[in-house]
Amino acid sequence: MSLLSFGLFLLLSPALFLYRQWFLLLTSLCSSSLSSLQTLGSDGVRITMESALTARDRVGVQDFVLLENHTSEAAFMENLRKRFKENLIYTYIGSVLVSVNPYKDLEIYTKNHMERYRGVNFYEVSPHIYAVSDNSYRSMRTERKDQCILISGESGAGKTEASKKILQYYAVTCPASDQVETVKDRLLQSNPVLEAFGNAKTLRNDNSSRFGKYMDIQFDFKGAPVGGHILNYLLEKSRVVHQNHGERNFHIFYQLIEGAEEDLLRRLGLERNPQQYQYLVKVGRSRLSLSCLMHPGNCPKVSSINDRSDWKVVRKALSVVGFNEDEVEELLNIIASVLHLGNIQYGGEDSGNAYITTDTQIKYLARLKSPLNLEQAASARDALSKAVYGRTFTWLVNKINVSLAYRNASVIGLLDIYGFEVFQHNSFEQFCINYCNEKLQQLFIELTLKSEQDEYEAEGITWEPVQYFNNKIICDLVEEKFKGIISILDEECLRPGDASDITFLEKLENTVGGHAHLTTHKLADGKTRKVMGREEFRLLHYAGEVNYNVNGFLDKNNDLLFRNLKEVMCMSDNKILTQCFDRAELKDNKRPETAATQFKTSLAKLMEILMSKEPSYVRCIKPNDAKQAGRFDEVLIRHQVKYLGLMENLRVRRAGFAYRRHYETFLQRYKSLCPETWPSWQGKLADGVSTLVKHLGYKPEEYKLGRSKIFIRFPKTLFATEDALETR
Ligand code: ADP
Ligand code: MG
Repeated sequence: MSLLSFGLFLLLSPALFLYRQWFLLLTSLCSSSLSSLQTLGSDGVRITMESALTARDRVGVQDFVLLENHTSEAAFMENLRKRFKENLIYTYIGSVLVSVNPYKDLEIYTKNHMERYRGVNFYEVSPHIYAVSDNSYRSMRTERKDQCILISGESGAGKTEASKKILQYYAVTCPASDQVETVKDRLLQSNPVLEAFGNAKTLRNDNSSRFGKYMDIQFDFKGAPVGGHILNYLLEKSRVVHQNHGERNFHIFYQLIEGAEEDLLRRLGLERNPQQYQYLVKVGRSRLSLSCLMHPGNCPKVSSINDRSDWKVVRKALSVVGFNEDEVEELLNIIASVLHLGNIQYGGEDSGNAYITTDTQIKYLARLKSPLNLEQAASARDALSKAVYGRTFTWLVNKINVSLAYRNASVIGLLDIYGFEVFQHNSFEQFCINYCNEKLQQLFIELTLKSEQDEYEAEGITWEPVQYFNNKIICDLVEEKFKGIISILDEECLRPGDASDITFLEKLENTVGGHAHLTTHKLADGKTRKVMGREEFRLLHYAGEVNYNVNGFLDKNNDLLFRNLKEVMCMSDNKILTQCFDRAELKDNKRPETAATQFKTSLAKLMEILMSKEPSYVRCIKPNDAKQAGRFDEVLIRHQVKYLGLMENLRVRRAGFAYRRHYETFLQRYKSLCPETWPSWQGKLADGVSTLVKHLGYKPEEYKLGRSKIFIRFPKTLFATEDALETR
């Protein structure tokens, strides 16, 4: 470089620096005005060169309530598709967040993003899971009201990821102290532990949660996270003994076999080969999954899962959440025994009774004295495995709860629970899951309508009743005492003699056959319906029809375990097992509650918990079945829009007013459109807004003025104002 050019460079560099700063200032000014423009439905950042109108065309509206034709499903789908194409996976319906799984890592979860959403008005930034997190946090802090965030959607839609993002948001943005750091760690590390024991690879999701989860995050008076509490629902225990083709058992089994040190494996009597274990190679009927590097008929290895490194994560997480070495060993002992149990083989005697053919260390099975046939013996063995695993899981959750325990806190609850399930073949599990969704829908209706009503009242605006379908009639059909489906099922489970799945179905026909929401294959005139199987009943859920096959309903609901097996478990010297199988249970000669009744009771408690809190909703959508980025499968998504009740949700939200904003926000944005409000309005805010909208030519039926907010009925009114701002 010549001296001259060096001199020129020195001279110019401050100018360049200043130019750059100026440029940055300009862009930041632009984006701040754009970010408020986002309130009107376009995600600002990209629209510097476009008018609001064309941006709306391209990226759609960021709140479905701003759709011109809000009752049109096609318009809804079009908006979702446009946004998905632009990687805008989040869209609101009022305060409900709709999220479409991108199946790829988007750069929208950085610390910067977290900062961007901290303390800002919900509607002033583009929709995001952090906006929901922040909004709940601030309501909890300022209104001193406990919050809950309800996340729903079908398997693979992104519920668990969403709940993790919320937790991370709080872990990063909330105030902290040393003691808080430990709790934060425990809160975060409870995830890998629960996922190891409660998640599995399914055809729909390589990391599918096989249990429902409600987690309270507790905050102290400074707003720091100080504790937590987890409730778990309906673990899919049957997976321990049986998986469909292309699916796996719970992750922990493979992690242990692949990851454990030689020493540990030896102590547990295990081999480093999943093929050795019946419970890991056993399969049923279903389609093949290509993501498995498969041996014929089973799925020990999955390309997206590294069991060995996950094992390390889980081992570390176990100690963070408070397990000492002995407890870990006892826990793993149980996991290993389940694998050994599965390998017990039976042979048949001439008399038809079964005997154990395998010489395993699990001698206690030999105590199974009562003569059973082959099938009964295998099912007794499987029942034991399921009971042991299921109870150990519950024990694990309780153990985590002890390590997170805190009292007297404000709370944000996260509900990550299965959405509506409609398969080709629907059984007892789907019946329970869909019943749970009916309950959640009820809560949703009650709380949304109530909060709408409350807001109108607070603002002094006359409440206009909204027409909606109240699904209480379906909840009653399922859960009512004496004549609900669960009662009828329990009755058949208790009835000695010839009770069977079919007699249950017959009883349903006789008792509730005439119900508007239940049909069976029999018509009133004795003829049969061709569209339904003889073993099916159909429920007309709020979201649509589902046929349930009654096969296995009685067994699954009974969920019985032989008494002598329970006795043996009580005698175990494994400390965890003795806590899982209580001797008191043996003395108590009462029949244990059925699975459906237990579920009903725990749901009622959950509803009570949720009712006492202020809810936010996240509705997750899975864009395709191939777990692929960029693929938007119309049919599949339309199906979910229906079963998530999104159109109904939108209708209720739009029944009154499409848009509402605080006077201050509204005036700030549009004051330049009226000479009397520009550059500033000196009088009362309400008068300023009134003057402004009159000047803009709003007709009386188009808006209402409340105590602190303006309510605008139609999106087009607002868009016209927005366009006026653009073309000014
Ligand atoms: P669900 O809990 O609803 O069954 P998950 O939350 O486990 O579904 O999501 C399934 C998979 O989809 C995840 O393992 C991840 O690969 C992907 N995924 C979900 N949400 C996101 C997201 N926001 N960004 C990127 N990938 C995601
Ligand atoms: Mg999940």
